[in-house]
Parts: sequence; structure tokens; C-alpha cells
Amino acid sequence: MTTTGTCKFCRQIRTLEHVSESATQKEKDDIATHECNCEGARGARALNERIERGDTAINQIVATKDEKAAAIFRSGLKPVAEGRILSIQIRATECMKYSMTRKGEKIVIKSVETSEEESDGDAIE
Ligand SMILES: [Zn+2]
Repeated sequence: MTTTGTCKFCRQIRTLEHVSESATQKEKDDIATHECNCEGARGARALNERIERGDTAINQIVATKDEKAAAIFRSGLKPVAEGRILSIQIRATECMKYSMTRKGEKIVIKSVETSEEESDGDAIE
């Protein structure tokens, strides 16, 4: 059956095919938005992709070593992806740092292990 949905951004009405009869209007609007090529819809798709890739990188790079740091990054991922926060850095331990930084269209996740030993002069052996 053929039905219609409205793009959330440009309000353009699209004809949708192969949509289940039980789909709600919101679901139809989501499909219409997903199929639309207007600037708002494209921007939203790019943002979602950025968030998905960032989440994958957090899982691969941070969660394998430090689940708490990964949880902090996950909660900060959206504002970083949206460009409202440039960077989040976590000093997890004396020698382990994590950073999540927006660089252009990408989110760069890094884990840095510093092996340098700082002598403070009163180490007891
Ligand atoms: Zn649109």
C-alpha cells in the first residue's frame, strides 16, 4: 500500500511505498525524513553516523580498558558530535589518558599510555 510521510526538517510530504499498514504516523515521518535530501535531513544523518562511529571507537579503544571512562565518553558523545563541546579528556590513572575530540567531520578517540616515570625525589624503595 502507498501512504505518505512528512520530513521533519523541510515538511515536504513524500509518498512512501512498502510501509506496513500498522506503521504510526511518526514512523512514516521518520522514513520520509530518512529518505529526504534536504539540508536538515542530510545534516541529521551525518550527525547520526558521526555518533555511531564515535560509539564504535569508544567501545574498541576505551571500553576494552576502562568501562568508567567509556561511560563518560558515551554520555558526552552527542555534544561533541554536535560541535557544542570540542574535546573531553580523562586522566584515568597516573599513566593513562583518554581523549575524545571533534576534528572537522570526525570524532577522534585516543588512549595514551605514558610510561614516563616522574621522579619526585622522595620515592621509597
Ligand atoms: Zn527534508
